[in-house]
Amino acid sequence: MRAYEALADLLLPTSCAGCDAAGVSLRGGVCGDCVATVTAMRPHETRPTPAPPGLPVCVSLGQYADPLRSMIVNYKDRGRHRLAKPLGTLLGAVVAEVAAGRPVLLIPVPDTPGAARERHGDHMARLTRAAARHLRAAGTAALVAYPLAAMPRADSAHLSAADRAVTAQSAFVIRDTRVNSLRAAARGRLIFLLDDVLTTGSTLAVVSERLAEVDVEVAAGVTLAATELRRDRADSRGMGAAGPNGRIPVKRS
Ligand SMILES: [Zn+2]
Repeated sequence: MRAYEALADLLLPTSCAGCDAAGVSLRGGVCGDCVATVTAMRPHETRPTPAPPGLPVCVSLGQYADPLRSMIVNYKDRGRHRLAKPLGTLLGAVVAEVAAGRPVLLIPVPDTPGAARERHGDHMARLTRAAARHLRAAGTAALVAYPLAAMPRADSAHLSAADRAVTAQSAFVIRDTRVNSLRAAARGRLIFLLDDVLTTGSTLAVVSERLAEVDVEVAAGVTLAATELRRDRADSRGMGAAGPNGRIPVKRS
């Protein structure tokens, strides 16, 4: 079935990846209505409640709801790899909003080796490359680094937030051979950690910790979507997502 699903992406997609509408004209596998919906979304600062210790500022494009949710699932688990371009562009636009023209270093949260095999490639690495291309085309100096490795682990989807936090602690390591080049690439850049969905925040917290251990300070975690666990800062503080200059305040490296 997996192989068939991967092959399906080689054919012209027959239904919209966001709303499953068939017989409509598709752009990158997505219908005009869904393109309009996701491009109208505005990045906002978001935070799970409770937030795990060490969680950086998190910025998401939208809620984990359709059509964005379906686009992510179709891309990630149903082999529609061509969605990397539209989704990567959206992710890049979120980074651009926070970076406001400053040079950036993008670091994707990696798949475990098993997940990357099942998905015919690391799904966040592919998205991050597409995000970097979008940023460069828009004039932002963007580099991508892959300093992290994900340890094989059981699926965490069924775990409680507390159990996820414990599992996540041992889930990622920094590749020793990449530390020096990572530090060099990080110099003078805002560092963004990229993932698809923010749930409990434990992954972004742990990965940020691993990076801090080698003196690389994450400016913000950026995701396409955030689940209902989080509270939007903007909900309680009006347009609280942005700082005094209309910028989302992030730490400089
Ligand atoms: Zn659609």
